[in-house]
Order: sequence, then structure tokens, then C-alpha cells
Amino acid sequence: MSGGSGISYRFRPSDVSCPQASGKRREGDLRSKGSAGSETRAERETPFVRLRADLHIHTCLSPCADCGMVPTAIVTRAKAVGLEMIGVCDHNSTENAAAVMQAGRREALCVIPGIEITTCEEVHVLGLFETERDLAGIQTVVDEHLPGTNEEAAFGRQTIVDSWDQPVGSNARLLAGATTLSVEQVVDAIHCFRGLAVAAHIDRPSFGLVGHLGFIPAGLRLDAVEVSRRSPVRRYGSYPVVTSSDAHSLGDIGRSRTSLLVERASLEEFAKALRREGGRRVSLEMEDLSLHVLDIVENALSASADRVRILIHEDTGTDQMLLEIEDNGRGMDAEWCQRALDPFFTTKTTRRVGLGLPLLAQAARESGGALELISEPGRGTTVRAVFQLSHPDRKPLGDIAETLRMILGSRPDVGLRFDYTRDSEIIAALDTGGP
Ligand SMILES: [Zn+2]
Ligand SMILES: [Zn+2]
Repeated sequence: MSGGSGISYRFRPSDVSCPQASGKRREGDLRSKGSAGSETRAERETPFVRLRADLHIHTCLSPCADCGMVPTAIVTRAKAVGLEMIGVCDHNSTENAAAVMQAGRREALCVIPGIEITTCEEVHVLGLFETERDLAGIQTVVDEHLPGTNEEAAFGRQTIVDSWDQPVGSNARLLAGATTLSVEQVVDAIHCFRGLAVAAHIDRPSFGLVGHLGFIPAGLRLDAVEVSRRSPVRRYGSYPVVTSSDAHSLGDIGRSRTSLLVERASLEEFAKALRREGGRRVSLEMEDLSLHVLDIVENALSASADRVRILIHEDTGTDQMLLEIEDNGRGMDAEWCQRALDPFFTTKTTRRVGLGLPLLAQAARESGGALELISEPGRGTTVRAVFQLSHPDRKPLGDIAETLRMILGSRPDVGLRFDYTRDSEIIAALDTGGP
């Protein structure tokens, strides 16, 4: 390829036929900068719906994915775990996306076709597209810049299937490899075909933009960044943040998902939600209570707490589970408490509190419980969430030990006390002493 100097080389639209090469903006361009002001009144009055999306799912075409990742199984599983919108993003190939879209159409599940492109810096970038034509366009660019052939024994099978899961062929390219395109070129190529460019699992050391490169190149025109489930950081400059499962097996689907407040399930609406047009929103949804705990404790630490107490008590007699997190941070007055519980206020206006509280409140409500927030300026905050222990929608506790390790790893100076009891039995206890 020409250029050769890696990052400084810009993708040239003339490399491929590109509808935007003339600089004209096509109608329906996902990246067009709309605003609430330009919308018609009828549009604004359309009520929003809350949808759950997992926009990073692999199929059996990805060499590292399970061979059970076939269209009907993916769609069935996605619906079973309550998703309304999924994205299909195989490594460097789009060839199974249409099959999953068809399977989705039969079951009224919105399937966004996409691709996960590996850049020459070994960074993964997701491209999500509106039409199969745009998808074919990006595939042409990737094919021109993806060297190597696959060795099934070493990397795995790359099966192409139809919408009824029948194998119809296999891809011979080295999909596990990297393209010769830089991250800027990949983002430009995705935009050239009117797609959305999302930095995949940005926090991960392997193939994550920040985890691997250490930074987001200045001026990179990403539409969003995707964080992985366990990311302790959920803000990357002004980029909108989403999360997805990066599912390689059926059980992973929906394990991490993004909540959308939109008019309907579509890529266009998702794009508008990323730009917060007309009141649309995206927010992160977490699957395990241990991740909620991590989030709440992070809030506490950023509110200057140096002592945190986490209490989990399961009462099988009353069928209740109590999760209480108490800190000695700077606390909040009544008005701030109310704001902290508003999912769409906290994300936009303040860094003092994240999405943790509204999401935990939602998790409690969805499992027959409630959340209580007790706080006073200068006296710290207590978050108390109650769940129905046996409720089918109660999230599992998850890896609480890992959460504690992450807290202590990042802030060894903090005094942390943890008590986990069931009825009169002590399940786990930890007290680091500290201040
Ligand atoms: Zn990846
Ligand atoms: Zn992936």
C-alpha cells in the first residue's frame, strides 16, 4: 500500500468508489450534524422507548468464536435475554451479517450489520452500517488491505452460513490478522460508507485503542467508544460511551449492554442517541451487582471518601437481599441526591456522580426492590439497595472479589470494610483497617 508511514497516512476515498468523495452529504447520512432545533414538532412529540442493545456480537465466521454462533441461535438468545437490537461484528469480514439480519427480521429483532476491523496498530474498530450496500463497500476496502490466508488448525474455522444456520462456505482470508490500514484510515473508510465508527473495548490491553496504544489519537473522528464490562474507566473525553458483550459464544450475548432512549430500533436512531439529539440518550447497563458496587465505590472515592463499607446480606426467610455502601465522602444535599438518581442528568452535567446510582436503582426496581439514598453534606453517603432474593430479574452478585481487588489496587490507601452474610452465616469478610 502507498503511504507506508502508518498513522500519518490518510485513507484516500479515491482508493475505492466512495459516495462521499465529492464532499456532498447524502440524505440520511448518519453522521450529518442534526440538532433538536432542526427537528419537526411531530418528530419531537414522538414518544421515546427504552431499548436494550448489544452491538458487538461475533458469529461462527470469526475464527475465535464458538461454532454455535449461528443466526437463529444468536437471534433466539438475544431475544431471550431481553435485547431489542444487536450488532453483528465479525473480525475483518461482513459475510454473515446479512444472514443474521434475515434471521432477525423473522423474529422482529433489529440486527445492525457491522464489522470489527483490525488496524495496522493492532487496534479493533467497529463499523456499524445501515445498508448491505455500504457493508459491501467497507468489505472491499478491508479485502484490499488484509494480507494472509487462514490456517484452520491454528486459528479456527471461518464458516459462512445462511439465515437458517446452514454452512454455505468458508472464508479463506486470515481474518484473525491485521489490515494494513491505520486507525485513522479505518475510521475514515467507515465514514466513507456512512457507517458509525466505534473504538472496540477501548480499555482492554489487547486490541483496545487506549489499553493498547495508551491514548486516543488527537482529532480521531470516532462516533463512540466501547468499554468492556469490567472497565473501571467509563469516560473518554467527550466521546459517547457504549458497552457491548463482544460475545464469542451464546452465553455471552447481552452480558454487557447499552440502554437506548430512542424513537425506534434503528442505526439512525442510535446515531442520534450518541449525539443526544432531541433528548435521545445512551447509557450503560451492567449485568452483575459487583459492577454496580464498583461504580458506587468509584463515586464515593471521587467524592473524597477514604473509608468505604460494603455490606451484603441475604435473608432467605424474608427473601430479601440488602446491598449497602457507606462512605465518609463529602456527601450531598437533598437537591444533589435527586440529581444523582436521574440517569440523564448525571451523565451530562456533572462528574461528581456517574451513572451508578440510577442504574442500581433500576436494577433494584426490576427485581421487586428499591434504592434508598441517605446523604448529608460533610457527612458522607449511604446507598441502600434492597432486592427480592429469588426474583428472576435479580442480577447475580458476580465477581465481588475482583471488584474488591480493583478498588484496593487503584486506591490502596482507602480503608475498606466488606461483610457478606447469609442469614446468620458469614460468607466473606474483609477489613483493611486504614484511616
Ligand atoms: Zn475485538
Ligand atoms: Zn469482537
